[in-house]
Amino acid sequence: AEVLPLPEKTRIFTIANQKGGVGKTTTTVNLAAALAKNGARVLVIDLDPQGNSSTALGIDHRSETISVYDVIVNDVPMADVIKKSPEPGELYCLPATIHLAGAEIELVSLVAREQRLRSALETFLAESSDPFHYVFVDCPPSLGLLTINAFVAADEVLIPIQCEYYALEGLSQLLSNIKLIEKHLNPRLTVSTILLTMYDSRTNLSNQVADDVRAHFPDQVLNTPIPRSVRISEAPSFGLSVISYDTNSPGSISYLEAAAEIARRGAPAATKAS
Ligand code: ADP
Ligand code: MG
Repeated sequence: AEVLPLPEKTRIFTIANQKGGVGKTTTTVNLAAALAKNGARVLVIDLDPQGNSSTALGIDHRSETISVYDVIVNDVPMADVIKKSPEPGELYCLPATIHLAGAEIELVSLVAREQRLRSALETFLAESSDPFHYVFVDCPPSLGLLTINAFVAADEVLIPIQCEYYALEGLSQLLSNIKLIEKHLNPRLTVSTILLTMYDSRTNLSNQVADDVRAHFPDQVLNTPIPRSVRISEAPSFGLSVISYDTNSPGSISYLEAAAEIARRGAPAATKAS
């Protein structure tokens, strides 16, 4: 099998789309698992109070669990909160609990409220003895302070786009918000990657959405779309990625291929070196 290149510098992605149910969490978990399976050391930061990516990675996130909430609101070091996923490889998760729902409001009165995640992550990565190759931040479906924290902590944005009606609705708002963040809070931020999800090659609609998105974002869209697949939606209830749950299923194969594309492309040249 092909050996994927590992980045020299940690690549930090935010998986964003203010629409719910477009495949943010599914994409976060499965790309992370795919890269870890290929030898990368990967951290998933669950920034959604629902804690779906924690669940899918087999990580406990009952309300009494110490979580990303304690990191961003109470300055608890990330190293004390991160747990190793039972998935194969070096895959770690910073879990979310329902307390994170309150953080959206609590953050308002905190110093450097937009930079909390970034500072915590920078300290963690600097002090970590084994370097991480990838960090993925799974965002809630909103453009509040949690998502802003994710944009400020990241260098790259990955936008999953569902190949269905209204797929492009809200996309221009998302892109203009990202521009604002780039201008005022994080000049390094680049929309490097767009992934087509829930693609059904048999429908005209899916093909039309895919063509539209490729025409608008020729450099960002990955060649591999993720098909709509029941195996993908079943895997989280077993606390597994689809790659562990059913390695040879089309969903697993396409996430492995999408991850390989991301690895081969490397960080975008436009990532303004800091
Ligand atoms: P988001 O995080 O954007 O809200 P999710 O990743 O939770 O979206 O996906 C929404 C729902 O769609 C979940 O039930 C998930 O299992 C399902 N799903 C995601 N991707 C696929 C896919 N490719 N095929 C089938 N179901 C999918
Ligand atoms: Mg989600």
